[in-house]
Amino acid sequence: MSTDYRPMWKDLGLDLEAHDALLGVLGPLYEQTFTKQPHRPDGMKYFDFVMSEVHGLRIQELIDAKKAGRKVVGSFCTFVPEEIVLALDGVMVGLCAGAEFATAEAEKYLPRNTCALIKGAFGFALARVCPYLAASDVVVGENTCDGKKKGYEIFKDLVPQLHVMDLPQTKSAEGRALMRAEFKKFGTYLEGLTGKKLTAEALQKGIAKVNAKRAAMHRLAKLRAADPAPISGLDGLLMNQVYFYDDPDRFTSSVNAICDELEQRVKKHEGVAPKGTPRILVSGCPMAVPNWKLPTIIEKTGAVIVGEESCVGERGTQALTADTGRTANELLDAVVDRYLKIDCAIFTPNESRVNHVLSMAKELGAQGVIHYGLQFCSPYQIEAGPVEKRLEQEGVPTLRIDTDYGQEDVGQIRTRVEAFVERLRG
Ligand code: SF4
Ligand code: SF4
Repeated sequence: MSTDYRPMWKDLGLDLEAHDALLGVLGPLYEQTFTKQPHRPDGMKYFDFVMSEVHGLRIQELIDAKKAGRKVVGSFCTFVPEEIVLALDGVMVGLCAGAEFATAEAEKYLPRNTCALIKGAFGFALARVCPYLAASDVVVGENTCDGKKKGYEIFKDLVPQLHVMDLPQTKSAEGRALMRAEFKKFGTYLEGLTGKKLTAEALQKGIAKVNAKRAAMHRLAKLRAADPAPISGLDGLLMNQVYFYDDPDRFTSSVNAICDELEQRVKKHEGVAPKGTPRILVSGCPMAVPNWKLPTIIEKTGAVIVGEESCVGERGTQALTADTGRTANELLDAVVDRYLKIDCAIFTPNESRVNHVLSMAKELGAQGVIHYGLQFCSPYQIEAGPVEKRLEQEGVPTLRIDTDYGQEDVGQIRTRVEAFVERLRG
């Protein structure tokens, strides 16, 4: 970052010393994880730039948007409908924390056996190191897993405004009705906050913007099916992570520019690793920035990750929202129908998720699946058993890795991943 952003961070109320400590770790970790990868597409320079300015320029943009009267909406979950936020001229940003920070402080509020995502979110808030949280006019919580649901009851005292959405546990007619009522309530809440109206025209614009972003990610996902893989899994994950932060239009055009480059690579049979490199699909819990631990281990064993069945991945970007409705109500129905397709493990039963993992593995030519569970995440850790059983029955080798953000188990995970990759090599 060439500009001095310290006055801006101070105005946002960040703890400058703690924030410096965070950036002091983040910068070198990024360098070491991403920039030295062989045969990186040129287009990834844009994402290097975004990451170098992730607490700088993008935050300045959010502040400028606020000055222009727009509201910033912080979200922890892919169930928060960005279409509605954009329709009301809001800016949505992801707040999920992918690193441990102020864990001891967070554990004053939460039991030790809380998943690292929730603990990280508390730690970032308590230590005052997240400029996205500080810039948010409202944080949207969602009653998904028990950890989040109960966590928001405490988190509400750590942020100026928290709006909690109730969410269904089943994909039934009753579940859909609940989601629709909650999305409607969310729209009404944002209308009050922004002073704007959720009209059909506004919703159509919001839908078009988010659909364009998702369509670019679908294009990227299809290109990753090529062998040799035209882009690394780490870079694919990074693009999925930046999806939650960047300006939507700029993000869409940057992803499309990389896809143009990858198309050329695919035509010339060029890739980041030789043809025949073992191909892995990662499935499970979301990986927020800067959680690059497992993908780094996997790709360092000589395998390549070709997709992520994750909220920071295909689960978050799959399916477009139908844009054919003519009234605001019809368009809201389409938004609900799209979000009800998300295969989060909070749903029961959740058969569609394992079917989705199987179809992704097939379409992407993945020889094996690594299921990633965050310690103490009951929904995904419990679901991992049936998912593994079904995948193995269908002939897809599967490895379950349960871990957290710590580095203590890196050696042990590496040994298990190496043995798994050997199994894939046959
Ligand atoms: S795993 Fe479920 S609860 Fe967590 S971010 Fe994804 S959709 Fe939301
Ligand atoms: S990782 Fe699991 S426990 Fe943690 S917030 Fe997501 S669904 Fe809840």
